[in-house]
Amino acid sequence: MCGIIGYIGDGRACEIIVKGLKRLEYRGYDSAGIVTGDGERLYIRKGAGRIDELVQRLNFLEMPGNRGLGHTRWATHGVPNDTNAHPHRDCTGRIALVHNGIIENFAELKEELLKRGHRFESDTDSEVIAHLIEEELKFEGSFEEALRRALLRLKGSFALGVVYSGEPDRIYFVRNESPLVLGIGEGENFGASDVPAFLEYTNKVVFLDDGEYAVVKPDSWEVKKIKTGERVHKEVKRIDWSLEMAEKSGFPHFMLKEIFEQPKAVMDAIHGNSGVIAGIAKEIAAYDKIVFVAMGTSYHAALVGKYLFQRLVKKVPIVEEASEFRYEFGDLVDEKTLVIAITQSGETADTLAAMKLAKKRGAKVLAIVNVVGSMATRIADMTLYTHAGPEIGVAATKTYTTQLAVLTMLTIETAKFLGTTEREKLLMLEEELKKVPDAISKALELHGVIKELAETLTSSRDAFYIGRGIGFPTALEGALKLKEISYIHAEGLSAGELKHGPLALLEEGVPVVAVAPTGKTLEKLISNVEEAKARGARAIVVGSSEALKRVADTLIAMPPLDELLSPMVYVVPLQLMAYHLAVLRGNDPDKPRNLAKSVTVE
Ligand code: GLU
Repeated sequence: MCGIIGYIGDGRACEIIVKGLKRLEYRGYDSAGIVTGDGERLYIRKGAGRIDELVQRLNFLEMPGNRGLGHTRWATHGVPNDTNAHPHRDCTGRIALVHNGIIENFAELKEELLKRGHRFESDTDSEVIAHLIEEELKFEGSFEEALRRALLRLKGSFALGVVYSGEPDRIYFVRNESPLVLGIGEGENFGASDVPAFLEYTNKVVFLDDGEYAVVKPDSWEVKKIKTGERVHKEVKRIDWSLEMAEKSGFPHFMLKEIFEQPKAVMDAIHGNSGVIAGIAKEIAAYDKIVFVAMGTSYHAALVGKYLFQRLVKKVPIVEEASEFRYEFGDLVDEKTLVIAITQSGETADTLAAMKLAKKRGAKVLAIVNVVGSMATRIADMTLYTHAGPEIGVAATKTYTTQLAVLTMLTIETAKFLGTTEREKLLMLEEELKKVPDAISKALELHGVIKELAETLTSSRDAFYIGRGIGFPTALEGALKLKEISYIHAEGLSAGELKHGPLALLEEGVPVVAVAPTGKTLEKLISNVEEAKARGARAIVVGSSEALKRVADTLIAMPPLDELLSPMVYVVPLQLMAYHLAVLRGNDPDKPRNLAKSVTVE
């Protein structure tokens, strides 16, 4: 999920690669490493830490050779340490590679390779690829063919750079569901996960598509299909982005880029957890006392988790802000309690404290975390990763929707295990979950419409977000996004609360955003919207039912979707609305005032 840079030409590979790695730093990483090739010899240096520090510690700039690969790692399998850093090698040390992405079937491949006598150095999923190529090479004369056959066995997402000592004149690059782009120079060529890595040397690029690999030499390059080995015609494109634009893949802000990454992030969350979720569900099924602890956006994910558990597992979890739990309630948990802690960074101070307290009291702790190897994963008894990749914008977007994907999978699996919901319903939800990335893409098509809507709201002082049932946490999250980055005062409410107070604040034209998935409380919610409208509110309604047309001043039309899956999709227009309002009001959505990305102090 992080960065790859490769170079072949007559320059000093190590220098060009270190520069490229620095250009990829903005993507976030925990470790880095380089392989260079000088003739048939390969040199590898790698470690956990910042690039500047590693340049000093490992003398990257002394590595010989005119070809090589660099990698910044964002761990998904195996904690960030020196051994798990890339490049990885096969047993002979003749094959070295760097990998971005997740190999979903790595466990079975590893088992098979261990049986065949391969020795592994790291805990990563990536290392299996090197051994798999080595294995194929035993039966294949050509390295390229061995590589292709190995790739055919991989499931998951992978961008790869591969070097082989027996072929000093070339580097292979591969793309499948993880970005890879070639940079075409004069007597030198590049491959990288992202254009900024080589933009200083060339702006001529060739974008690989999924299922393609490239054979790159100093003076030539060709792209082929993984499936058949056939050549593919590719066009060379000229990029006229500035470095800053290139870092954001052409988006004006990281937040917008990350909002648009959600279909892929949710897909990765689903794929990345499909092999492990049943085991965890089995572990937690025995607990009747379930407590979610989290803060901020993760707290809203926890609330969605509560509704899911109630509906499918028929248990009523408690959801507590970790900052409250640690002082008020934590002492009451015991070994019969399951605590589910949700934290993007895995370093949120209050959540860590809550987890420690729960453990001390004998409770079982499951963490749902984005950052592999973070503190939360070390405290927890069990961890599920959200696989959202690094998030740079301070306002959480893709890390939220991936948390929801994990919680949805966990609940479905637990319900299956306990038999608390009809199996057909669960299987149907499971099928529909796979379509959620497409539904998010559909919601993203509303981008232009939402921008126009935002233009009409720039002078609003207040906004109210209302929802019922599983739509309620989405209302809270929509309001949080708006206050965080646009600085407009916003309140998220369960719609039933309106007339118990907040209705008094409604004036002519105040936006009331109703989160209205089709479900058992839709009619009630529509009545609440009517109430608000009767007091002059402007009703902005997110939903798919025809009935909404009657009440909405502005309808944000969602694709039809089971109510229980709606939180992952309905939040998207609300993220976009907050984003546009922030920009229109002259704020930097990536760096909201007074806020930090992860709150590591109490
Ligand atoms: N899954 C690989 C690992 O954990 C690659 C991670 C990345 O994309 O940086 O090492």
